Amino acid sequence: MKEIILIKDGEIALKGLNRCNFESALAGSIRRRLKPLGEVEIRKAQSTLYIEPKQEDYDFEEALNRMKKIFGIAAFSRACVCEKDITDILAKAPVYLKETMESIRTFKVEAKRADKRFPLKSPEICAQVGEALLNAFPHLSVDVHHPDEIITVEVRDYAAYIRGGQIRGAGGLPVGTSGHAAVLISGGIDSPVAAWTMAKRGLMLDAIHFASPPYTGPRAEQKVRDLLGKVSQYSGVIRLAVVPFTEIQEQIGEHCPEEYFTLVMRRMMMRISSRIAAQHGCLALITGESLGQVASQTLPAIAATDAVSTLPVLRPLIGNDKEEIVAISRKIDTFDISILPYEDCCTVFTPRHPHTRPKPGQCEAAEEGLDMEPLIERAIAGTVYSYIDPFVKGETDP
Ligand code: ATP
Ligand code: MG
Repeated sequence: MKEIILIKDGEIALKGLNRCNFESALAGSIRRRLKPLGEVEIRKAQSTLYIEPKQEDYDFEEALNRMKKIFGIAAFSRACVCEKDITDILAKAPVYLKETMESIRTFKVEAKRADKRFPLKSPEICAQVGEALLNAFPHLSVDVHHPDEIITVEVRDYAAYIRGGQIRGAGGLPVGTSGHAAVLISGGIDSPVAAWTMAKRGLMLDAIHFASPPYTGPRAEQKVRDLLGKVSQYSGVIRLAVVPFTEIQEQIGEHCPEEYFTLVMRRMMMRISSRIAAQHGCLALITGESLGQVASQTLPAIAATDAVSTLPVLRPLIGNDKEEIVAISRKIDTFDISILPYEDCCTVFTPRHPHTRPKPGQCEAAEEGLDMEPLIERAIAGTVYSYIDPFVKGETDP
């Protein structure tokens, strides 16, 4: 029996004139994500996308799993393709729906007759399909008000389709439709969640990670790649920039007052990230900061880091409690990686008494001993790029 996936677009439907662009972006996301599984045909008609595998041994289950992670899809369903002929529909419905029907007690049939040339009207289709299902599964009864499952028969231009209930999609907007931004990614819990949250709103992601070898080891960097691997299952390919940060941290350690270590370090990250991001066409930075969570995330500290970024800084978790952030990290499967105990550059030079309420001008004074511009230029020159591809093991070169 031939099976396809039907997608009703979610928020896209609200986008008026932009709708066409959003639909094309969504079709592009789907095509890229399903490509490794084999050839599919994607068709658009009447606010529905039809995805039809073109080969016999298509891995349908894996396709459905990938579908759940594509932003811009509110809900989707698998459906059986029938000829536009009631005999074929009545023959296939009990066979295709067997597993579903055996697991429920009540159902209701709905029919949508988009092709008005079809000889039976919707109520007649419902009655005949309902009867066929009752005959095939005598334990069932019809409940039009609160059914366990709604069975839908749609008669469309090319064919008729039978489907059970809908599967919830990831929601949000298709990746790329809101532009391009760079996430500052550490190995922690927050930044991968921040990255996912903004990809959900349609941003294509770059990632920037600051590494301080030999204080931070290869396993810490691998952890970041693994985290991005999980995020990229939703966001698509992510370009990762790994910035060498050792010299800057050592210089900060030598020339800045200790209580400013963290603030100056974060300002250096912002300066370098704004430049790298802008070079690659990103219009914003993303961080995993949450108000008051640590010393460098008080409002004065955030103001001090904001002041040196030349791009807007998006902080999608600013109002979230840790528990809420952890819940998302479990959902997107980054939590278990995030809690692995590898050192991050932030933890290497942690001051004993970090400054939490810097006044304007104080950070600048603390930075006076740094040979700022050459330090930034050397870090940018030493940056190494690679791509994180959701479904390719290992790295690909830029
Ligand atoms: P996370 O869980 O994301 O590590 P955190 O609570 O540990 O966050 P901080 O260490 O203060 O908070 O970092 C705040 C934000 O700064 C992070 O969410 C991330 O966006 C960025 N950041 C921290 N360390 C790095 C790093 N080594 N490379 C790139 N960005 C970083
Ligand atoms: Mg951190």
